Amino acid sequence: TNRPKADIALIGLAVMGQNLILNMDSKGFVVCAFNRTVAKVDEFLKNEAKGTKIIGATSLEDMVAKLKKPRKVMLLVKAGSAVDEFVRKLVPLLEKGDIIIDGGNSQYIDTQRWCKELASTGILFIGMGVSGGEDGARYGPSLMPGGHPAAWPHVKPIFQAICAKANNEPCCDWVGEDGAGHFVKMVHNGIEYGDMQLICEAYNLMKDVLGMEQGEMAQVFEEWNKGDLDSFLIEISRDILKYKDSDGKYLLPKIRDTAGQKGTGKWTGIAALEYGVPVTLIGEAVFARCLSALKDERVKASKVNQWNLNYGSIALMWRGGCIIRSAFLGNIKDAFTKNPQLTNLLLDPFFCDRISGSQQSLRQVVAQTALAQRDYFGAHTYELITKPGEFVHTNWTGHG
Ligand code: NAP
Repeated sequence: TNRPKADIALIGLAVMGQNLILNMDSKGFVVCAFNRTVAKVDEFLKNEAKGTKIIGATSLEDMVAKLKKPRKVMLLVKAGSAVDEFVRKLVPLLEKGDIIIDGGNSQYIDTQRWCKELASTGILFIGMGVSGGEDGARYGPSLMPGGHPAAWPHVKPIFQAICAKANNEPCCDWVGEDGAGHFVKMVHNGIEYGDMQLICEAYNLMKDVLGMEQGEMAQVFEEWNKGDLDSFLIEISRDILKYKDSDGKYLLPKIRDTAGQKGTGKWTGIAALEYGVPVTLIGEAVFARCLSALKDERVKASKVNQWNLNYGSIALMWRGGCIIRSAFLGNIKDAFTKNPQLTNLLLDPFFCDRISGSQQSLRQVVAQTALAQRDYFGAHTYELITKPGEFVHTNWTGHG
């Protein structure tokens, strides 16, 4: 019989798509597989999908004809133009009530755009974050769907069956309207950046400040993983610290200190700036990755700074005539006269005393002065502690 029998179609037979199809199949759903390079459909059916209920399609038309209604088509292709191309080709083949799910790492703004564009056609769009890599895709990912709410009841049984479970609860629920699913996935990846940066800095402190051996560090991560910090990243950090290369030596110190990035952390930072939310940890984590990627520049810089800078005299030259002139610069000169190799002014007794003595009041003053400064240079106004809500401006210089 030619009755359509597939519960869902999945386009994109790279690592994520193949594993998610196998996952759906193992949960009893009939999946129709398709790929831009159509030859990969046959290869998949003959190899990885052998002995399963998975079917394939030779064209988008063929795929659509094999789907039960309302049709569900999921994309797991490269984010960006690949998604756009497939959605444009699918729209004329689908009808009101059919559902397109983009499971790639798309930008939430693209998902918002598709939700708006498809609203008039009645075709329902879901942008869904998929986390957990290929293993997650195969055995249980965390799924973050958002978009047209009317689509959710139709896909909920599939997605809540294939996702990971924590205490028997599915790690998949409706996130919200239009770009919400992909936005939450983006924030999730940003959090990942922050977590990883914290772990890297903890490693750096243990290694370079405390001088710990790698085995000891692994031990600490092992302990952390038994307490409040119990988590995937702490767990794998322990394993990475313990890992020995074929020569019996630890692998980690042999790895070049330069990291790449695919952009989701950066997008979180951009969104934070856009909406004025102080997501400082993630912002700093993205910058730390940028810095780590400048390996060649850092190596070069570490070799060229042989200037024998005369720190004391530099401070003296600034004591008059320039913007930063101050009597304090004399104390800086003294500090460097006492110790020309001084690495940090805070190590000089004079400055150490002054900083310790004024730390408390400094903390109180910082918030208030920031406001006064903004008023000085930009007439942005400020509020007096005694008159909240009343914005005043002061002519700080007395000039017109
Ligand atoms: P991928 O390498 O991102 O994409 C490969 C797939 O995209 C192939 O099916 C390819 O088709 C198709 N494709 C590429 N350019 C295309 C175009 N211009 N038009 C049509 N199709 C095109 O695959 P992936 O690693 O499996 O990831 C799929 C999606 O999941 C991505 O958005 C990725 O960011 C996201 N994701 C990945 C992971 C992961 O761990 N890898 C984790 C979570 C989310 P052809 O075979 O014809 O080239």
